[in-house]
Amino acid sequence: MHVVVCIKSVPETTQVAFNPDTGTMIREGLGTIINPFDMYAIEEALRIVERHGGRATVMTMGPPQAAQELREAMAMGCERGVLLSARAFAGADTWATAYTLSAAIRALGGADLVLCGKQAMDGDTGQVGPGIASQLGMAPLTYVWRIREIEPASGRIVVERLLEEGTEIVSAPLPAVVTVLKGINTPRYPTRRGLRRARRTELEVWGPQDLPGIDPECLGLSGSPTQVVRVFSPEVRAGGVRLFEGGTLETAADALAEQLIADRLV
Ligand SMILES: Cc1cc2nc3c(=O)[nH]c(=O)nc-3n(C[C@H](O)[C@H](O)[C@H](O)COP(=O)(O)OP(=O)(O)OC[C@H]3O[C@@H](n4cnc5c(N)ncnc54)[C@H](O)[C@@H]3O)c2cc1C
Repeated sequence: MHVVVCIKSVPETTQVAFNPDTGTMIREGLGTIINPFDMYAIEEALRIVERHGGRATVMTMGPPQAAQELREAMAMGCERGVLLSARAFAGADTWATAYTLSAAIRALGGADLVLCGKQAMDGDTGQVGPGIASQLGMAPLTYVWRIREIEPASGRIVVERLLEEGTEIVSAPLPAVVTVLKGINTPRYPTRRGLRRARRTELEVWGPQDLPGIDPECLGLSGSPTQVVRVFSPEVRAGGVRLFEGGTLETAADALAEQLIADRLV
């Protein structure tokens, strides 16, 4: 089996600031980590390869510094690492990100399974995984908290998806895209041997020229159908307590209801 894991390099804090003019995150001075959900995707990929044979490739699209997250995934056991980094890719929205990652998966010769996290802890949309599935014509299996079985011979996968009201068991044909939840497994720590191997292995850095058949008009900010119009923090409102006293419980409740209606809160 060839399992491709897509990981995103994210700031190690949620206290990020945005450039109000460009609508992009101010990344300078921020340390980065592998998006926490993607750690579970890496671990799941490694377990699948250990059980069924094959290889795991880890891939990220991001600035050159994202190489450090790829190396960490390789130290955990991923055999190959691909960094998609070029000026043309910058500013991509979720559609352009999924387009670029899909083109890279095709350039790798395809995958039997693509694993992603449920969502990125900075962008938070949860759209990239289903976007890849749509671009590659694969089954999208989201919110997966358990992979029950994979049958490479019959080409099927059975997963458990977490819903608000319970669990859904879904069987789908391979190849498929699975987005995983926290708790599906416990990610391993890199071993010393893995760290040495990751340091020695050369990372592959790809640009648009490495993606055959790609349409340059669909890349990066200019190829993104969505544009950030404005980024702002909600105004902080002064708190306060107002007591509706006097009279009976009913008259106090009526006064409260009138106030809520007047303030357009109900
Ligand atoms: C030069 C450069 C600069 C960039 N700068 C920024 C930036 O400042 N802020 C920012 O948020 N993004 C940046 N990106 C990345 C890209 O724009 C985002 O990845 C994309 O918008 C993802 O949206 P999301 O965070 O909502 O992901 P979600 O849809 O919430 O992510 C779900 C899952 O999809 C996968 N995934 C998401 N993004 C990537 C990725 N880039 N590579 C591999 N797998 C991925 C992961 O498995 C993740 O768990 C940059 C990219 C490049 C090339």
